[in-house]
Amino acid sequence: MARQSDEDDNDVLASLKLGSTIAARQLKYSLLLAVGLGFLIVAFRGYQDYRWLAEIYQQGNQRVTASNVPVAVQALQKRDLDLADVMVGGMMSQRSIQRVTLMTSDGDVFYERRRAAGEIPTTHWAEELFGGLQTISVPVRDPDVEPATVMGEMIIEFSPQVFVTALFSRLSWSFLATMILAVLMAIVFAGLSYYIFSRPLVRLGNYLVKSDPTDESKPMEMPPYHRHDDEIQLLGSVTVGLFGMIRGQLGQLRKARDELLDANVNLEARVAARTEELNAAMKKLEVLASTDPLTGLPNRRSYLARFEEAISVWRRRDTPVSIILLDIDRFKAFNDTHGHQAGDAVLVELAKVMQSNLRDIDLPARMGGEEFAVLLPGEEIEGAMKLAERLRGAFEKAVVAFGGHDLHFTASFGIAGLPSSAGMANLDHETTMHIDGLKSWDSGDISAVMYSLADSALYDAKKNGRNRCEPCDFKQIPEHSNLSVSET
Ligand code: GH3
Ligand code: MG
Ligand code: MG
Repeated sequence: MARQSDEDDNDVLASLKLGSTIAARQLKYSLLLAVGLGFLIVAFRGYQDYRWLAEIYQQGNQRVTASNVPVAVQALQKRDLDLADVMVGGMMSQRSIQRVTLMTSDGDVFYERRRAAGEIPTTHWAEELFGGLQTISVPVRDPDVEPATVMGEMIIEFSPQVFVTALFSRLSWSFLATMILAVLMAIVFAGLSYYIFSRPLVRLGNYLVKSDPTDESKPMEMPPYHRHDDEIQLLGSVTVGLFGMIRGQLGQLRKARDELLDANVNLEARVAARTEELNAAMKKLEVLASTDPLTGLPNRRSYLARFEEAISVWRRRDTPVSIILLDIDRFKAFNDTHGHQAGDAVLVELAKVMQSNLRDIDLPARMGGEEFAVLLPGEEIEGAMKLAERLRGAFEKAVVAFGGHDLHFTASFGIAGLPSSAGMANLDHETTMHIDGLKSWDSGDISAVMYSLADSALYDAKKNGRNRCEPCDFKQIPEHSNLSVSET
């Protein structure tokens, strides 16, 4: 890891176009700068060279003229053509001289030499630079005659062509050298900038993109190896620090989330347990609300609900239903004689005797105090009368052992019911009409009327001597119906 693989370097080049690197931009601008600077340097150097060469040109012209005048005097004095030839030959070694002419005072040409055409080809720059083409004419005086007389004249034609060539040559070489240097320096600086700055930075960028500080399954990756203690390394260290912070914070967040989830699961379990407890409690409450605590029999509320259901079945399916209402005889006196607890024992025993004498579908209930009832679904009045008689006999025989005594009790019974069509066959027309009339009533109203009829029959049983069963009188329906409707 200390040394990133070549593969990573390839990635770097692939992900970043070379032209868009800082190094490339630096190369471009430093090239422009170098070329500009090169032009400036060349212009400055060229101007200096021009002034220097111009001075040489002017001074050279004057020197060559001044130094050859004495020889020209000799040549003209002696009319010595050879001397003139030697002199001019020497002068021609000065390459700015194009022509030399010696004239006599008569105006004749004594000697003349011109540089061969094409020896130094003259460009138009020669007319423009260094003062252009110059012709110097110097009078030649005879030193032996006083006052000095003019013997003739020396005419010299100068051309700065060699200086022009020299200047241009110097200019082009210095331009070339400056440019090469500038380009080389630009490349070197761009390369340095690439290796010092761009490349490590891009590698750091790659590391940033690839490393995932949130993945706790892997150890934290370190930034690519960088051997200089500079800004890039600082950036790398800062990044690792940042990643560490992110991982730390993330760990805390995950822990908090796990704790929340745990708490949630616990909460759900506790809610489920509480709900179960609540349901159980509600079931118990329901049983309590519908059961008599002393005898364990259903109470008045659940009895009436079941009676109304049975009435609906009677109305829809013509299934008969009967009820027996019973009340212990002279119970107040019994309590007074034997005590209230003995009375309670009688109530419990009575419930047991009832249950042992009933079918599964029959429903015994304690209606309150010492008053009980039995619901007989599917039973006609006649069947209910038989069952009541059986119960009455069973009560009579029952023995309640309490406080060392065998105690006895009896009860009186009132029976009512809703007969089926078949059951009504034995009844007279008026009774049938009354019962049929009930079918359009509400179940609650019918149950109230039936209960009232049974109660009335029970009253009759008491009145007729107790410990007996009496059937209801259907003819009383109209008066009981008024009662029940006004009650509800
Ligand atoms: P009748 O033959 O006319 O029904 O006479 P009775 O004495 O049974 O009638 P009454 O209505 O005058 O008295 C009912 C008595 O029932 C009064 C009360 O002491 C008793 N009783 C009611 N509920 C309970 C109970 O839960 N336990 C006991 N031990 N006695 C009760
Ligand atoms: Mg009573
Ligand atoms: Mg009673």
